[in-house]
Amino acid sequence: MTNITLTIIKPDAVKDGHTGAIIDQIIKAGFSVKAMKLKHLSEAEAGKFYEVHKERPFYNDLVKYMSSGPVVPMVLEKADAITGFRTLIGATNPANADEGTIRKNFGKSIESNAIHGSDSDDNAKIEASFFFAGTDIY
Ligand code: ADP
Ligand code: MG
Repeated sequence: MTNITLTIIKPDAVKDGHTGAIIDQIIKAGFSVKAMKLKHLSEAEAGKFYEVHKERPFYNDLVKYMSSGPVVPMVLEKADAITGFRTLIGATNPANADEGTIRKNFGKSIESNAIHGSDSDDNAKIEASFFFAGTDIY
């Protein structure tokens, strides 16, 4: 599975009712949804997902935030999915994100930035299998 990325619509964006608008923007940008669900992560699960950041000062807050309400993980497919999707979502800090990007449109802060996107093909595979069984990816 190349050409796939794993995204997560983050808790604040789900809570604020932006799920539909964000999915619409993703589909209009040419991505196909290969898997999707609603899931409320435990702190342990959020901690495991973001394990690579465990030495960073924001790790504990990030884990609390990501387990604060349901999220919408999705596996997406498009040619050059990783790069294309990172462009679509914009910079980590919404204040620095380009106009029209998902983080510019829906992000509130560097932490509550509305959406996740995998940073490499290898991590996309790892992250997709964190949320979905192979048989749940179409
Ligand atoms: P990205 O999500 O753009 O790949 P990172 O992998 O560096 O960014 O960080 C993972 C997530 O951690 C970010 O999306 C954001 O929610 C949070 N985060 C990153 N940097 C900070 C920071 N300086 N302060 C608070 N939260 C942060
Ligand atoms: Mg990252």
